[in-house]
Amino acid sequence: MNGVLLVISGPSGCGKSSLLNSVLDKHNDIYFSISTTTREIRDGEKEGIDYYYISKKQFQNEIQEGLFLEWAEVHGNFYGTSIKPIEKAIGEGKLVIFDIDVQGHKIVKKRYSSILTSLFITTPNQEILKDRLIKRATDSEDVIKQRIINAKSEMARIDEYDYLLVNDDFELALSQFEAILSVARLKRDKNQIEKFASLW
Ligand code: 5GP
Repeated sequence: MNGVLLVISGPSGCGKSSLLNSVLDKHNDIYFSISTTTREIRDGEKEGIDYYYISKKQFQNEIQEGLFLEWAEVHGNFYGTSIKPIEKAIGEGKLVIFDIDVQGHKIVKKRYSSILTSLFITTPNQEILKDRLIKRATDSEDVIKQRIINAKSEMARIDEYDYLLVNDDFELALSQFEAILSVARLKRDKNQIEKFASLW
């Protein structure tokens, strides 16, 4: 069987990375798509683990060379998904997970709708998101303000997603997240279903 895709979106600070980090080591069929970005590297982040960090000029070159499956400008920085590793992982039958914004989801969904599951993760409310961003202490006050504004516009597009996960209690959110992974693995396109049925 070919691979399947799971797109995860949600405001920065909603807990996407913590949930992902809790499952990545446990499942060897998961391929996490490492995006390329022009934003500054944060304390604690690592090149090639969290992102590939490049300049705006390099990013423009990669766009022109057609290397991205999708790219978007988020909070004034550029973020993009390289196409080659995704196609390879699909060919290897992996569950490919993307942590991308609503713009990226729309593009990836258009191309891979038959094998894609999508999940929007958020906090129970705005105040909790703001609290988490302040506690994380990786962003200035202005950046936090911008992230909240951005979160509000992303929240307006939750209906474009298959599932909504409200990350309040982490252990509960983690078990719900594991359930979504299981469901995403069972998504099959028509061709594969027909092939399976004819061989069965
Ligand atoms: P952060 O700066 O907090 O790491 O990410 C900011 C936002 O950019 C998040 O909403 C994240 O999902 C999104 N993002 C990260 N990588 C990509 C990407 O490759 N494409 C798109 N469209 N969005 C991305």
